[in-house]
Amino acid sequence: MAKISINIATGSLQQAEMIVGIDLGTTNSLVAIIHPETKKPVALKEHGTSSLVPSIVHFDQYGNATVGEEAKQYLETEPQNTIFSAKRLMGKSFNDVKNNAGFFTYKVIDDNTDSLVKVQVGDTFYSPIELSSFILKELKQRAEHILKTPVTKAVITVPAYFNDAQRQATRDAGKLAGLDVLRIVNEPTAASLAYGLGLQMDEEKTIAVYDLGGGTFDVSILRITGGIFEVLSTNGDTYLGGDDFDRLIIQHWLQQNNLSEDLLHNNKQLSQTFRLKAEEAKKYLSSNDEFNSSITSPLTTHHSPIAPYALRLTTKDFNALIQPLIDKTIASCSNALKDAGVNKAEIDTIVMVGGSTRVPAVKNAVSAFFGKPVNDMVNPDEVVALGAAIQADILAGNNKDFLLLDITPLSLGIETMGGLMDVLIPRNSKIPTKVGRQYTTHKDGQGSMRISVFQGERDLVKDNRRLAEFNLTGIPGMPAGMPKVEVSFLINADGILVVTAKELRSGVQQSIEVKPQYGLTDGQVEQMLMDSITHAKDDIKTRALVEARTEGEQILGVTEKFLTKNSSLITHEEMLNTAAAMQALQLALTMEDKNLIQAKTEELNEITRPFAERVMDAAISTAMKGQKILE
Ligand code: AMP
Repeated sequence: MAKISINIATGSLQQAEMIVGIDLGTTNSLVAIIHPETKKPVALKEHGTSSLVPSIVHFDQYGNATVGEEAKQYLETEPQNTIFSAKRLMGKSFNDVKNNAGFFTYKVIDDNTDSLVKVQVGDTFYSPIELSSFILKELKQRAEHILKTPVTKAVITVPAYFNDAQRQATRDAGKLAGLDVLRIVNEPTAASLAYGLGLQMDEEKTIAVYDLGGGTFDVSILRITGGIFEVLSTNGDTYLGGDDFDRLIIQHWLQQNNLSEDLLHNNKQLSQTFRLKAEEAKKYLSSNDEFNSSITSPLTTHHSPIAPYALRLTTKDFNALIQPLIDKTIASCSNALKDAGVNKAEIDTIVMVGGSTRVPAVKNAVSAFFGKPVNDMVNPDEVVALGAAIQADILAGNNKDFLLLDITPLSLGIETMGGLMDVLIPRNSKIPTKVGRQYTTHKDGQGSMRISVFQGERDLVKDNRRLAEFNLTGIPGMPAGMPKVEVSFLINADGILVVTAKELRSGVQQSIEVKPQYGLTDGQVEQMLMDSITHAKDDIKTRALVEARTEGEQILGVTEKFLTKNSSLITHEEMLNTAAAMQALQLALTMEDKNLIQAKTEELNEITRPFAERVMDAAISTAMKGQKILE
């Protein structure tokens, strides 16, 4: 029988089935899975081809889209129909990208500067979400072709610096491609997973993930504690990558041959040839000292063809060309450390991601900066997808050992007096987990207690999400404050929350299983977290006010009760003073001034302290009697 569970983070039903990991990159994308037999992550590829699918969409005159290598052919010759780097536009308005508008060789619509950007191809407008969905559709089809089974579920990676809009856009692109996106995972987290980092429960590590791709660079500092990944900082340059290395090589060759850049501007075919040669040289120099080649000149004179352009490049020259760019990335590493509040020596592991980290000079510079060797054993082009596959496998429930990696995305707690959220399981707790806390009644003889379970980060439950509610009934009559009700939260390995309330003196018990009817998307989770940050100041204020009010009301209640029961025990003067203080407090309670409420509560306290002690004594003796009766 297929195992089915409900994940409390996503609220989704999960069956043990294949879920693919997708690295949706700026330059290249790919799919990986956990091989059903070897149980190791592998990137999917058709026999004899690369696992990498260029993230490029070409539209023909009828609007038919092709994706990947085939589309790449048109990059230079049909720039207006050939869309690359759509990832850079995800979740962005034209205002966000206008400074880099020159980068895009296709038409990015700039009419309404605040709405999300669109790309115009012919008469058709495409959103970056649609463009990404073409790439994802292609990846899905490839995977289905190779695996000979439908692929409907995926984990997709995004840069750690992606904001909520960009993550949501990525999720939507998946949906549009017919994929149920079970989780959006940070690329550096995925890369670390591929190196097996974070899979040991007792592991505590600080990791630097250096990702230099074709067009973008970022470095992230992560902290892993007990299987939880926390991004401490990210830094980088979204317009720096291996393509810049290629451009520098081309400039170098143009100089060598006394050619002007205009030559390439006016001849797309030649420009393409130069670019391909430059990339070839760059790759060749990763394991050789000198590259030698030539390009036939398209120019001719009246008398004879012009000699071919000589393309020569030594590793030494190449390194000198790219040194300023490498220096820039190292400066970013330094800034990332500063922002994370971590020093170099505290970095336990350095993970290399992206094709451009194959350049030995890059590797050496990073290793020299951090003062230790870098991790580069896993193919840097595939490492993110492989990690996504590991995450997918964990979500599929195939890997019991790693289940603990799952964490609660939002805090779980119950409502206490005054509508306050009392958190039992803080967000980012590992699951399974169990937590218990004791509560008591606030009214004498209170026979039942309502347990309302909430999820969220705000201080007031009204701002959080109600998950469930039940009544613990049959609490034996006792004075307020005497019953001991233990509320325990248990999240089992399948992510189902079981809430139990038990009155410890009597043993009365009630429990409920919380299975969310619908899940929260990552976007909603992030929104809730964002709200909690935005409202943190207000929340602290409100909480303080509510707490002060609750305390004031309690004191008023107790005092009132004492006065009616024991008026004979106090003097006339005491009575008058108490009444005046009560009135002052009552008035304060109608106002929004926490300090005033506290001051008036304190004043009443001062006056009634001698009686309060008598009340306590009385309560204790009643309780003792009560206990005997229960026994
Ligand atoms: P990515 O965005 O991670 O797919 O990285 C692609 C970039 O890596 C491109 O700029 C490639 O030219 C570059 N790249 C791939 N292999 C090598 C190599 N062996 N040496 C240098 N750069 C490479």
